[in-house]
Amino acid sequence: MREALHVIDNEIFKLPYSASNEAVANFKKLAKKELYKCPYCDAVLIVKYGELRGLYFSHQHSEACEESKRVEKAEKRYAKQIERETQLHKVLLDIIYDELSIKSKINPEVYVNRGYKEKTEWKEYPDIYVKLGDKEHALCVITNVNPSGDGNLAQHIMKRHNYFLNEGLEPIWFIEKKEQAIERDKNSIILWEAELTIASKTKEDKNWDNLFTSEIEDEMFFDYFNYPRHDTDSEINTKCLLYILNKEDKIVIHVQRFLKDRIVKPLRAFMINDGYEIPFGQALIVDNGFRLSNPEIEEENRNRFLDSLKQKREQHLERQKLEDEMKKLKLAQEEEMRKVELQEQELRLKKLIDQRKAESINRAMSYEELKQLLREKIGLTQKEQMELWTNYLPRIGLKNSQLVWEIVLENNCRSFTDLKAALGKKYGLL
Ligand SMILES: [Zn+2]
Repeated sequence: MREALHVIDNEIFKLPYSASNEAVANFKKLAKKELYKCPYCDAVLIVKYGELRGLYFSHQHSEACEESKRVEKAEKRYAKQIERETQLHKVLLDIIYDELSIKSKINPEVYVNRGYKEKTEWKEYPDIYVKLGDKEHALCVITNVNPSGDGNLAQHIMKRHNYFLNEGLEPIWFIEKKEQAIERDKNSIILWEAELTIASKTKEDKNWDNLFTSEIEDEMFFDYFNYPRHDTDSEINTKCLLYILNKEDKIVIHVQRFLKDRIVKPLRAFMINDGYEIPFGQALIVDNGFRLSNPEIEEENRNRFLDSLKQKREQHLERQKLEDEMKKLKLAQEEEMRKVELQEQELRLKKLIDQRKAESINRAMSYEELKQLLREKIGLTQKEQMELWTNYLPRIGLKNSQLVWEIVLENNCRSFTDLKAALGKKYGLL
């Protein structure tokens, strides 16, 4: 095996893959002075060089100890597990590992190891195993997240995630930052299935849960943001994605929070602010577990969120007030129009009556005229007209339409029923 091995004072030492002849000779000389020892069986190691393997350590007589064989086997299985990752995966892990190694030297509460070395018998290896006090963590980095194979990746991740949980490890996933799919007008972010699977729940997420729990009592909450809430009955569940990116040769974590919503595609979630970046070292500050956020920024973000919510609420109320006023105005206008119509109708009737009065001296009223007057005055229908003609007129006299009209005016009849009652009284008709 050509991995890290013990050298003086427990320092981990790796041989370079290639070196000049002179350097190779020097490593071999140092080995003869028993400088390098196997970290598993403590046997003295020798240094060899091969065309394919490059420079590597070997047990004497090429007989590797059981433990180093087991680690080698575990390493092979681990290599298979991370087959899908890109070159960046290795780069990021080396940096994370170094960062944590430094921490472990300063802080005796921190212990770090490569996942496959920590427990060779594990079925799924975390990239990096970290123990903080008595709490064990499985740190993993996921690169190469893309639409093709998203479902498969999500399943693969879920399997590893659950395995770690079962083994008592708390998983922390870092995901390679790619372009995010954001719907600004809906205040939403569309996630990959893999992203939804590995989103973390940190102390800060719980703080956001508290904020939402009280604010969402306002039924209009999501309307203020134009967010189409899908699962209206689901519990408030804030989560965060820890994106990892290489920025000007520094590793940065982009913290993106969201409120979980859809669990069927498209995986839309309510976006909480735009996220922010922190140096990787800051994310790994140990503070009752890894911090993974910046508490000051979070506090500020929550205040900013509440401010904008307040503003949106006020805007909404103002808009509603305006709409209510518009509605009232429209109703008043309609009322006004109805009044005008009624007045016009009365005016037409009055004109007819006046006309009739002026003419009545000269001639008798025709039944046609009576019908027209009754239509205006009491809203006489076709059916009522027939009833009047067949049941009443013959008894009053077919030419006495004038008399019927006089009765309407005398009794100020407003309906055919009124008229029938008046006629009944006058002529004893039923
Ligand atoms: Zn050994």
